Amino acid sequence: MKIIMLGAPGAGKGTQAKLIAEKYQVPHVSTGDIFRANIKNGTELGMEAKKYMDQGQLVPDELTVRILLDRVAQEDCKNGYVLDGFPRTIPQAQVLDEALTKQGEEIDYAINVDVPDENIVRRMSGRRACVKCGATYHIEHIPPKVEGVCDTCESELILRDDDKPETVQNRLKVYHDQTQPLIDFYTKKGVLKTVDGTVDMQDVFKAITDILG
Ligand code: ADP
Ligand code: ADP
Ligand code: ZN
Repeated sequence: MKIIMLGAPGAGKGTQAKLIAEKYQVPHVSTGDIFRANIKNGTELGMEAKKYMDQGQLVPDELTVRILLDRVAQEDCKNGYVLDGFPRTIPQAQVLDEALTKQGEEIDYAINVDVPDENIVRRMSGRRACVKCGATYHIEHIPPKVEGVCDTCESELILRDDDKPETVQNRLKVYHDQTQPLIDFYTKKGVLKTVDGTVDMQDVFKAITDILG
């Protein structure tokens, strides 16, 4: 099963992608996580990506596409995957489409997690991410058991640099300009499904599993 998660930054794509990956036993592939891991390890790719991420801009397509195609070519992705944060532009979607078509494959579902802009800034300022394992929490809605500490690996939880309100505004603009057109793209392909992302995390997941079966 090949699934794409669509939605504004902070809509809950990552939260739902992790639940989907667990239930359907497919890898969770997040370009944002790949970039952050590279930044943490001080790689050249990480340094390049950071320039854009800190501004709330997209990392250039050429670089992003190369990283993503490498990742999905790995053995663990051969029975499918859930893509979180890719594609984010029409050119990215076209490259993915061509690569899949060449192998006689296609995307099964593009799930659009719908959350209005008004809710987004609040979501993002409350988001806390684990420095080690990448787990995400929300200080009000999805709190960790112990404040500031990851439930899974007990490492420290931080506010991501790009989750500060000024950067969030940029990211929302970038989303509307460059990513939202993908809703049309996947509607035309007949694979788009929209779920209400404003309800509880478990209710969003229920709506998704009703679609995926
Ligand atoms: P969010 O969880 O808020 O949607 P991500 O973790 O997916 O954010 O992405 C963080 C940042 O990484 C983005 O703002 C962007 O700079 C970069 N990034 C991630 N995926 C892509 C992509 N497919 N294309 C371009 N840039 C990306
Ligand atoms: P995205 O990957 O789309 O950027 P995340 O999954 O990281 O979004 O979620 C953004 C923030 O909102 C996180 O702090 C997360 O814990 C919280 N969150 C996710 N889903 C919900 C929900 N259904 N209700 C309330 N908060 C949520
Ligand atoms: Zn952790």
